[in-house]
Amino acid sequence: MKIKPSAPTPRKSAALAFGSEAERLLRRSLAAVWHPCTQMKYHEWLPLVPVARGKGVWLYDFDGRRYLDAISSWWVNLFGHSHPRINAAIAEQLEQLEHVLLAGFTHPPAVELAERLSALAPGRLGHCFFASDGSSAVEIALKMSFHYWKNMGLPAKNGFVTLAGSYHGETLGALSVGDVALYKETYEPLLRPCGVVPSPDSRLAAPGESAEAWALRAAAALESHLERHHQAIAALIVEPLVQCAGGMAMYPPVYLARARALCDRYRVHLIADEIAVGFGRTGTLFACEQAGVTPDFLCLSKGLTGGYLPLSVVLTREEIYQAFYADELQAGFLHSHSYSGNPLACRAALATLDLFQQENVLVVNRDKARFMNEATAPLKRHPRVRNFRNTGMIWAFEVEGAGPHFPRELFREALGRELLLRPLGATVYYMPPYVIEPEEMAFLVKSTLESLDAVCG
Ligand code: PMP
Repeated sequence: MKIKPSAPTPRKSAALAFGSEAERLLRRSLAAVWHPCTQMKYHEWLPLVPVARGKGVWLYDFDGRRYLDAISSWWVNLFGHSHPRINAAIAEQLEQLEHVLLAGFTHPPAVELAERLSALAPGRLGHCFFASDGSSAVEIALKMSFHYWKNMGLPAKNGFVTLAGSYHGETLGALSVGDVALYKETYEPLLRPCGVVPSPDSRLAAPGESAEAWALRAAAALESHLERHHQAIAALIVEPLVQCAGGMAMYPPVYLARARALCDRYRVHLIADEIAVGFGRTGTLFACEQAGVTPDFLCLSKGLTGGYLPLSVVLTREEIYQAFYADELQAGFLHSHSYSGNPLACRAALATLDLFQQENVLVVNRDKARFMNEATAPLKRHPRVRNFRNTGMIWAFEVEGAGPHFPRELFREALGRELLLRPLGATVYYMPPYVIEPEEMAFLVKSTLESLDAVCG
């Protein structure tokens, strides 16, 4: 079997056959909006999908055509689109207070959310510092870590360590501690160097080696890096259990446990970037729980608001907070974002936490994951599929022989079969909203198989 040539041909797919209202919207969008993470020229042949509304796992265009959102709209949506309880919570808050600055002022949604997150987070984390998106949370954790060491009289501890293949966002600081060439390479001259240690990614285990044994070897490489450089290192940043944007690399909890111990030994902070994996994605509310570790900084965003509004937060330890608590203004953390702790976003987050509490989500998800693992059996047997893997509510596999345009070709074919997929290179993954039902899972697998066959020939 041979993969189709990679150069895509212009084609009017099902998704392009719009009514005139949709066609006008697309033209206006291409003229007025610079879309994220996109080579805009590709829209000469790749459909831009006009979305009129969403409900549950489905997105609908203006002609009533539907798409199953198998990636939770970039991993943010947990309980489906247009959830009545989150809708109601935002509407109620809208009548009270839409926004107020969080410097010098406070409001009930921010306080309640900070209290509840502190109670839910592993260990004793709190002092919630709010921002608006994931990258900002990463910037905050990096700056706070460095600033802590500076306030402690150790300004030389100003470097960072990251795992190969990691992703932490697009702003310059976050990009500096990332390791995905596609996003990073172009901007290299603008970035600060960062130590990169081997990823515990289970796919990298030697033939016959267990995932745990490989993770321990990767941890040994971290140990030798920290041993040599710890005096110049402020923090190690990790995506716990699944390195998502780098290609859904999954690894066992033992690596995190070992990393925590090494960070303690060498006086290096551990930053857990749970922006993508937090809020139940890996099977526990926070991925760190599976390793029994408490990071020094916990970064949260995406699912925090159930996928409704931009909000992020960094939680840290009492001792770190105390290092900033001083008479001198500049010993404080003078970082800010205009929309920090926006009341509408905080209220959406509180409604999301209510849903976790009231609907026994983590337990129900375990059954859903079991069903999905059965439903995906034909995919695992597909002759082009490699490394089929699953952690919690994330599934991923590689497609052998995928060409450079594979992500866009599969995207297009899947759209024609009512499915929203966005492969990362040769990696196809599912991160569906938790409200997905068994028949929708079966639909997802069937559409994927048909799309794969259409692309692979
Ligand atoms: N960290 C991780 C692990 C992420 O997956 C992402 C986004 N995909 C970010 C940080 C950046 O978040 P945002 O896109 O909200 O800036």
